[in-house]
Amino acid sequence: QRIGYAIVGLGHLSLEEIIPALHTCKKSKLAALVSGTPDKMQKVAAQYGVKPENCYSYETYDQIKNNKDVDVIYIVLPNGMHKEYTIRGAKAGKHILCEKPMANTSEECREMIDACNKANVKLMIAYRIQYQPHNRKLRELLQKKEFGPAKYIEAANCQSSANPDHWRHKKKLAGGGALPDIGLYCLNTTRFILGEEPTEVFAYQYSTPGNPLFAEVEEFISWQMRFPNGVIANCATHYNVHESRRYRVLCERGWLNMDKAYAYKGQDLTSARANGKLELHENIGMAENNQFAAEIDHFSECILKNTKPFTPGEEGLQDHLLMEAIYQSAKEGKPVKINTAVKVAEHR
Ligand code: NAD
Repeated sequence: QRIGYAIVGLGHLSLEEIIPALHTCKKSKLAALVSGTPDKMQKVAAQYGVKPENCYSYETYDQIKNNKDVDVIYIVLPNGMHKEYTIRGAKAGKHILCEKPMANTSEECREMIDACNKANVKLMIAYRIQYQPHNRKLRELLQKKEFGPAKYIEAANCQSSANPDHWRHKKKLAGGGALPDIGLYCLNTTRFILGEEPTEVFAYQYSTPGNPLFAEVEEFISWQMRFPNGVIANCATHYNVHESRRYRVLCERGWLNMDKAYAYKGQDLTSARANGKLELHENIGMAENNQFAAEIDHFSECILKNTKPFTPGEEGLQDHLLMEAIYQSAKEGKPVKINTAVKVAEHR
């Protein structure tokens, strides 16, 4: 039995990654489309064999309620629209898979979690890195203390962007700038690999004055997270430098390095291990997967077996609470303690 997905929003991510990935899934299939552009939707429907009656506009979206082909609604809209479409989708009785960042604010995340609980549907946030083999392997090596305890992490997710009219540069639709869009990967992946929650953050923020790209949202944030066992993660995200997506974990007896850590493919995991006076280097190669297909099939399996997703709504809420603390720290120029941490996935 395959779980049927309705894809909401036919932008770059849906067309280039998610819909093609659905066709490689083992437990999931494309069942319906939701778009504000009928011509584009017709073409996509014809290409992927979606029935005309399974094509919806944003106005007819709520009628998905009556469509038995659809089990899950996958929300791939601008961040500022995630809350509305999650709540409407939950009210239609469908399970929700929502793109990252979960919403614009932690308050919106709480409303989304409540709506899904009330409707008795599952909610998962699409943190694809948590379903990616190299990142999972690194997490396993760290948690087994293969290189001794982790002591310090450096993480950066940076790119350049050029179009100030894009929704990513509008506060209402994006929620923020580099931090919620790409910095989130440093935040979420660090929490994932350590399996711990930060107790304090300290941040700097900068936007070039007069640059229209950054009139509403930030260009650059650099922040530190302090974890209970003394580990510090030094993270940075930038919207105005050449692409760089990497992290490195320094451990007592070696280090682990991940290049292209947050990319769709091409992860490159290497390590160095102290061995007396020598240092042994290893390239830890392994087969790549389609991260989107792995993430989607995970959610389908949760529905088939009635289990909680590995990255539930609480995981998205936790990141929003931390991002709010990061902005607060940058504004106040001092560290901010994290008192509101959510109990994330207890089963991990
Ligand atoms: P996009 O701009 O390519 O697509 C957005 C879609 O939303 C378009 O089809 C657009 O027509 C539609 N839309 C509806 N109402 C809109 C409005 N008022 N303004 C602008 N667009 C509107 O964006 P994208 O890159 O596909 O991102 C969509 C979501 O996916 C975002 O939440 C983003 O953070 C997330 N994303 C996740 C990943 C990942 O790796 N998991 C990668 C890219 C994007």
